[in-house]
Amino acid sequence: MSSCRFDLAHYRELLDAAKAGGYTFAFFDHDPRPGDLLLRHDVDLSLAGALTLAELEAEEGVAATYFLMTGSVFYNLAAAPGESAMGRLRELGHRVGLHAVWPRAELDDRFDAVVAWHNPDPPYMSEPIDGADNVMSPRFFNRERYRSDSNQSWRSGCPHEALARGDFEWLQLLTHPEIWVYEGETMRKTMTSMLAAERELRWHQLGEDRIDLS
Ligand SMILES: [Zn+2]
Ligand SMILES: [Zn+2]
Repeated sequence: MSSCRFDLAHYRELLDAAKAGGYTFAFFDHDPRPGDLLLRHDVDLSLAGALTLAELEAEEGVAATYFLMTGSVFYNLAAAPGESAMGRLRELGHRVGLHAVWPRAELDDRFDAVVAWHNPDPPYMSEPIDGADNVMSPRFFNRERYRSDSNQSWRSGCPHEALARGDFEWLQLLTHPEIWVYEGETMRKTMTSMLAAERELRWHQLGEDRIDLS
């Protein structure tokens, strides 16, 4: 096993480790059962990054729940690329939940009835939500059965070895697609890679918008 880099090669190894450990890729639609791996992706910054990860997972025969924002500073689900991204995620067999910004958790029929708060504060983090499941409620969350890659830092280490050994009775694994799809040894370098890709995308979008780029 290579070192625990935040790149797509190691992401594949993480999925392979979960398979080796006998885990079942499960959704937030039932109480976690022994052997369930609740694969969760909060999409904070980039739909293109989410789609790249989603395609890789489909190749690997794996399904996840993607949490998308309606109030994102960085992308727009109401525009054509947003609509097609949501369609593609479903087509690949993934689920789509709402990545909500407190205090608004307004679900519409684009979303399954499941919510993950963006950058939540402790007072409401695990509180019930009307008409939806909260991924951080006690039903789906406890400290021993939760790992997150936030800002390229696993608080208890990369979980690939523990997954391969089947150490977790079940696990909620939160990963942020941008961290794995865009490469860099630090978060700043990863963001530099992402911004380079975004710049290309913006040039393309300007052309599509009939801006004279001659
Ligand atoms: Zn690892
Ligand atoms: Zn977030």
